[in-house]
Amino acid sequence: MMFDVTIVGAGVVGLSIAKFCSERGFSVVVLEQESRAGEGISSRNSGVIHAGIYYPKHSLKTKFCISGNKILYEYAKHKRINHKKIGKYIIATCNEDVDKLQNIYEKGIENSVPLDFLSTKTIKEIYPELIIEAAIYSPNSGIIDVPELISALEGDIQHSHGLISYKTKFVSASKKKSGFHILCNDGDEFSIETRYLINASGLYSDVISKKIDVLDDRHIKSVKYAKGHYFKYSGKHPFNNLIYPLANEYSSGLHVGFDLSGQIRFGPDISWVEEIDFTFDESLKDNFLNSIKSYWPEIDSSKLYPDYVGIRPKIQNHNEKMRDFSIIDSTVHGIDGLINIQGIESPGVTSCLSIGEYVTKLIKS
Ligand SMILES: Cc1cc2nc3c(=O)[nH]c(=O)nc-3n(C[C@H](O)[C@H](O)[C@H](O)COP(=O)(O)OP(=O)(O)OC[C@H]3O[C@@H](n4cnc5c(N)ncnc54)[C@H](O)[C@@H]3O)c2cc1C
Repeated sequence: MMFDVTIVGAGVVGLSIAKFCSERGFSVVVLEQESRAGEGISSRNSGVIHAGIYYPKHSLKTKFCISGNKILYEYAKHKRINHKKIGKYIIATCNEDVDKLQNIYEKGIENSVPLDFLSTKTIKEIYPELIIEAAIYSPNSGIIDVPELISALEGDIQHSHGLISYKTKFVSASKKKSGFHILCNDGDEFSIETRYLINASGLYSDVISKKIDVLDDRHIKSVKYAKGHYFKYSGKHPFNNLIYPLANEYSSGLHVGFDLSGQIRFGPDISWVEEIDFTFDESLKDNFLNSIKSYWPEIDSSKLYPDYVGIRPKIQNHNEKMRDFSIIDSTVHGIDGLINIQGIESPGVTSCLSIGEYVTKLIKS
């Protein structure tokens, strides 16, 4: 079988690329090792539509987050995907953090993100129950039902005659004169031919990269795993918006998030791990409580329960500066027809449609 485009990974990134490629008329197949789409990073995140505040001005993270925010809201509306622009407060819980908050505000303004800086008095009127010295309000932040987003993308791909092959593992790729010979396994080994190969395999992007015979190690980033836990809260609470406290010496800055049913959750925390392992460490509850109490002293500890774990696919070590998304094509690695994608951590959900459009434009007819 011969395809124009073969994509490894049916997370939000691979599916978005497949959507735009199949809508452009290319024959497309997505290879997904699991029995459903989105079983990797895409089903284990906060589901926040970010506004693009924190990242360097000229980074891909800023570019795709800001454009992705706009088109994701439009797409969600058009496809009737459950979403809500509930807004987000980034909060300083002590006086010493107000300068840090000011820096974040300036960075966001530099990125042209609409933001308001709120005084103690104003934010105290909005959230009298919380300990807050000052806050930034981001009206364009919101939440989206990611499983519904995944279903909508799958529907678009099928509508444009693209294929998603579940329970199908990418095994290896060898370069041919034009395109690639791909070995797959769905219980039996078989092969396909493709003009373009796109690696969108998330946490496995380094493993897959190493199985592409012509890709030089210099262009492969090793993936480091940064685990994050979420606890859900079943009691009464004062929150109507996303709340992002800054990390400081008293608190690890655990966020308040929501799902579309209104259930609130706290997290994610961060711990660097050696393996992809989604085991929940319940002993973290006290750390969570201490951190949350730094801004919400009234939390009822008996109503905080373990929820789930996500793992970030970092392409830097924990003592290094944040790295940008890595999307490289022949202009970087010199291999015609290969687009290698790595390090799509947050804001990957927000950015997915923009990444899909961008990658599709790299493909020649
Ligand atoms: C804790 C956490 C919180 C986050 N919160 C947010 C947020 O609030 N907002 C936001 O915008 N972003 C957020 N993100 C980031 C976002 O979730 C990711 O950027 C995004 O889901 C990445 O999608 P992906 O398609 O690249 O990867 P994945 O969803 O992991 O998809 C890759 C797929 O490749 C498949 N695969 C791997 N190897 C093979 C193989 N050999 N053969 C076939 N298939 C294979 C996997 O099974 C998987 O389905 C968060 C991430 C984490 C970890």
